[in-house]
Amino acid sequence: MEKKEMIYEGKAKKVYSTDDENLCIVSYKDDATAFNGLKKGTIAGKGAVNNRMSNMIMKLLEKEGVATHYVEELSDRDTVVKKVKIVPLEVIVRNISAGSFAKRYGVEEGIEFTEPTVEFSYKNDALGDPLINSSHAYALGLATKEEIEKKKKTALKVNEVMKKYFYTLGIKLVDFKIEFGKLPDGKIILADEISPDTCRLWDLKTNEKLDKDRFRRDMGGVEEAYNEVFRRLTNE
Ligand code: ADP
Ligand code: UDP
Repeated sequence: MEKKEMIYEGKAKKVYSTDDENLCIVSYKDDATAFNGLKKGTIAGKGAVNNRMSNMIMKLLEKEGVATHYVEELSDRDTVVKKVKIVPLEVIVRNISAGSFAKRYGVEEGIEFTEPTVEFSYKNDALGDPLINSSHAYALGLATKEEIEKKKKTALKVNEVMKKYFYTLGIKLVDFKIEFGKLPDGKIILADEISPDTCRLWDLKTNEKLDKDRFRRDMGGVEEAYNEVFRRLTNE
């Protein structure tokens, strides 16, 4: 399968059309942004880590009964996926307080929740991806009530599968963001990526951050953190 035309260039990936109108190729870049694009940089090797990690996780989720866009890994950075219309609702699951949760409610990072939380953001760069509740998402026609419930349920299932898996790698899954997309027949599947760009991952013993917060917060050791996650995933 080959790339035809670039149909979209985002902050972290390019999306290409293919000869099959139902499939596209995503190509992962080393570019990194934070704070809605205000902070820009590159993280050497990130594209390859994110591509391969995302594919490994999507395959694991498929095995556990979660439908995803994953089709075939072409190379270090390129993957064939089912083409979907992205639902502009980002679903965020949290197991431990961090990031915008800690800031919004004035609590420290690292509080382990009794139960995971689920929230939605309206995927809209111009507005800075604002937090949105279910009734507002429904009012805006972003999803039906059934679709909203299904997304919450699937997000919690994704959390259970990933949490267990990362634990075996000595990693705490703090929080993550996922996106869903619609196939031409209306079926909703998991799309986009699951990587250290979209998850907070802390070392089980030391709580060392192994994710994009190292870039957001200028902590140093950014490439090393991505490589460490990859090393644990592949046992290399
Ligand atoms: P952003 O748009 O936030 O800058 P990226 O750089 O990751 O993000 O760009 C990739 C774009 O492709 C995103 O908008 C994402 O929603 C979209 N996308 C992800 N998976 C698919 C898919 N299977 N089909 C179509 N679009 C997808
Ligand atoms: N996240 C993401 N994309 C976004 C916003 C958040 O992938 O546009 C991820 C982020 O990496 C973290 C989780 O979602 O793992 C929760 O992020 P939070 O709401 O705390 O926001 P942030 O601190 O990133 O602003």
